[in-house]
Amino acid sequence: MTQLAAARNGTVTEEMERIAEREGVEPGFVRQQVADGQAVIPANVGHDSLDPMIIGREFATKVNANIGNSEETSDIEGELEKLHTAVHYGADTVMDLSTGSNLDEIRSANVEHSPVPIGTVPIYEAVKRAGDASEITHELLLDVIEKQAKQGVDYMTIHAGVRMEHLPLTDGRKTGIVSRGGSILAQWIEENGMENPLYTKFEDICEIFREYDVTFSLGDGLRPGCLADAGDDAQFAELDTLGELTRTAWDHDVQVMVEGPGHVPMDQVAEQVERQQEVCGGAPFYVLGPLVTDVAPGYDHITSAIGATEAGRAGAAMLCYVTPKEHLGLPEKSDVRDGLAAYRIAAHAADVANGREGARDWDDALSEARYAFDWREQFDLALDPDRAREYHDQTLPGDNYKEARFCSMCGVEFCSMRIDQDAREAGEMETIEADVDDRTALEDSSAAEVNRPPVGTHDEADIPGPDADTASDTGGRADD
Ligand code: SF4
Repeated sequence: MTQLAAARNGTVTEEMERIAEREGVEPGFVRQQVADGQAVIPANVGHDSLDPMIIGREFATKVNANIGNSEETSDIEGELEKLHTAVHYGADTVMDLSTGSNLDEIRSANVEHSPVPIGTVPIYEAVKRAGDASEITHELLLDVIEKQAKQGVDYMTIHAGVRMEHLPLTDGRKTGIVSRGGSILAQWIEENGMENPLYTKFEDICEIFREYDVTFSLGDGLRPGCLADAGDDAQFAELDTLGELTRTAWDHDVQVMVEGPGHVPMDQVAEQVERQQEVCGGAPFYVLGPLVTDVAPGYDHITSAIGATEAGRAGAAMLCYVTPKEHLGLPEKSDVRDGLAAYRIAAHAADVANGREGARDWDDALSEARYAFDWREQFDLALDPDRAREYHDQTLPGDNYKEARFCSMCGVEFCSMRIDQDAREAGEMETIEADVDDRTALEDSSAAEVNRPPVGTHDEADIPGPDADTASDTGGRADD
């Protein structure tokens, strides 16, 4: 029985109990949200190592990390290391988007070792097995989906909303169809002259999903790939189909979340979330970014985390991370770390803005540690404790600095928090002389001696800059 069927029957499952504990809510509330289709528990009946979690706008905003190999880089150990890195840095779910070799082995290893739900995009394996997108048969597609369900995959991206009638709507686009799954299905439709097999076989897929309790992640194969294409007829025609498919899946007692864009100008993000919620009956919205500008390859974890924050604030339930390598190459371990940090910030910022119960306690605790100059506590509370410690210790590595009333950012003389505290203690903010006295006292300490700012020792000529060659390498346009 699926979590949705159990919830509709009034049963609070073990998974719901565990989620209630993790989220700090009543088990009955979890059950009701699942029963109403407003939240999903991706928990394949065969995924034994799973610690159950929930995705829904009434719960903490979640973050997904994509990992996976390509033809160019393929090994199981490397993928397990990426899984480990993703979970270590806080991914709530992980999607295995492998398209290279050893797909079955990598998928099984990921499911076996992962405490978080694993998602896949089965059309990728179907292409590999068929040899060419246009050669995929309905039987092959269902076979791949069933095999992955048996392997314990918790949710699958199914691009069933890419309809034959939608394809002409993409003709005038600046960047066409940018979703891998979307482009594969568009090729299949055009070369076979038939409707999307994921659409025509949708109810068969529902039956497989019901057996293993796999959750649909209805893919947005026609998502915009640039700001100019955001909110066009193709995107919204597909969304209408996803709304229809959401209800079909619910009729089969199968859980559903819906994927969203992509690239969207900041001022359109909230209205896009609201539209999805309305069209899809409140099914959880799982967004990729969106990137709010197209001009920053190399920094798209930032351009997209801005959009993701706004999407989370407007009601998106899960944010799919984007790494600095987006548009440029397959992410490595360090990219996974940077992407996850950006997205955990986005998710938490959205939770704080939405007044999620207890969300701001974390901020308040860290702020208190910061104002108390309790550096160790500040590191421990940091979103990425290793990074915070490492950056602090680059300039002030000694143990004595873990109690210092300053850091190297402003230096001992200009540490505003120290000045403020001293002034408050003295009871009169206007006594500048007192600050100077205290500063003198601090300068006498061993920590302060080492940290003396190099006042007056720098002028612009001392600041290292790029030499002429480097400047031309990095500053010139590629097409100059
Ligand atoms: S020196 Fe500046 S950055 Fe460092 S603790 Fe003091 S106020 Fe904060």
